[in-house]
Amino acid sequence: MTAWEIKGWCPGALRPMPSGDGLVVRIRPPMGRLTPAQAAAIATASETHGNGIIDLSARANLQLRGVTEASHPRLIDDLRAHGLIDPDIETETLRNLIVTPFRETEGAGETPKSFGRKILAETDSLTATLTAALAQMPKLPAKFGFALDTGPRPVLTGASADIRVERSADGSLILRPDGHPSGQPVTDLATDAIAMADWFVASGGIANGRGRMAALVARGIVPSGCTLAPAEPLPTPGPGLHPDGALVALAFGQMRAETLHALAALGHEIRPTPWRMLFVVGAPTLPAIPGVITAPADPILRITACTGAPACPQALGDTRRLARQLAPHLVPGQTLHISGCAKGCAHPGPAPLTITATGKGYDLIRNGTAHDTPSLTGLSRQAILDHLKAPHAPPL
Ligand code: SF4
Repeated sequence: MTAWEIKGWCPGALRPMPSGDGLVVRIRPPMGRLTPAQAAAIATASETHGNGIIDLSARANLQLRGVTEASHPRLIDDLRAHGLIDPDIETETLRNLIVTPFRETEGAGETPKSFGRKILAETDSLTATLTAALAQMPKLPAKFGFALDTGPRPVLTGASADIRVERSADGSLILRPDGHPSGQPVTDLATDAIAMADWFVASGGIANGRGRMAALVARGIVPSGCTLAPAEPLPTPGPGLHPDGALVALAFGQMRAETLHALAALGHEIRPTPWRMLFVVGAPTLPAIPGVITAPADPILRITACTGAPACPQALGDTRRLARQLAPHLVPGQTLHISGCAKGCAHPGPAPLTITATGKGYDLIRNGTAHDTPSLTGLSRQAILDHLKAPHAPPL
């Protein structure tokens, strides 16, 4: 029995999730992109029907916070008018799909433009094909998802997905079950993806309505024909100018509606990414907008902090204010995970250093998760800060 609540379902726009600051409404951008008009509509809806705070999720979705039961229907009407709402909850729940933001040159500057145009058109077509195929999939767990990572080299390897569409070194498409080093050649994407999902269900991938592909593969259960390795993955990119646009970061993946308004006013397509960054397609320079981070060395980008108090009802302490206090004192290259409780939503895996709020101060965990055994317990915010500020203090 855990001390925190495991929900086992993912919020959407039509099925919002209650939180400490009202309903959280999650928008899954169609085709993984927003037109400037759609981005502006989301910003306006956030101000009008929510509390003006917008999150970017680890699955490249946007979340409007502070929505009320009374404002939710009007919010849905406004977003539906801009093509941002699925026809029903079932369709919305199925659309668990991350698309690479780099569809022209994969962001690496290595690809001839002609190949980039081919990839752009092909990625759009594949996204439409896979989106349509979702309706024919077997019933899958709520968190089961797909990644369309169809640039010359995969870039979404670290993002959460169960079935990945990637390219092998020779440029051909493969379908790779998460957790396995190689995939099957793709003959017909819709048919092949449905077959792999069917295989997952038939192979015992689901227990009590839950299950992930990597867990099944870790049990040594792998679909047949997975013999083609993907091309060497690209590292997760940082903020900055890329060959086809500007990648801009948001502290903790959160922005005010004003920030999204300003980004929309640039007049470019915006592609949300799973890296707490937005890709502004075709922007020739880095935008100077309050709330937007363009310097890769900004230390706030090296801190992962969940929502924490007061917005999360399960939080036992505030996380982001502490993160902003600690950021200037991190040594170069140091990373930090701050969690509002032992659940560790923002970084479920181990981190070199984790600070977990306990309600009796903060615990400090080295090389572990938010719920692993701490090496120091009951620290005050000031004790953590004093240690970091102390001259010649070793890193925490
Ligand atoms: S880890 Fe953070 S966001 Fe997750 S339940 Fe705990 S306080 Fe809330």
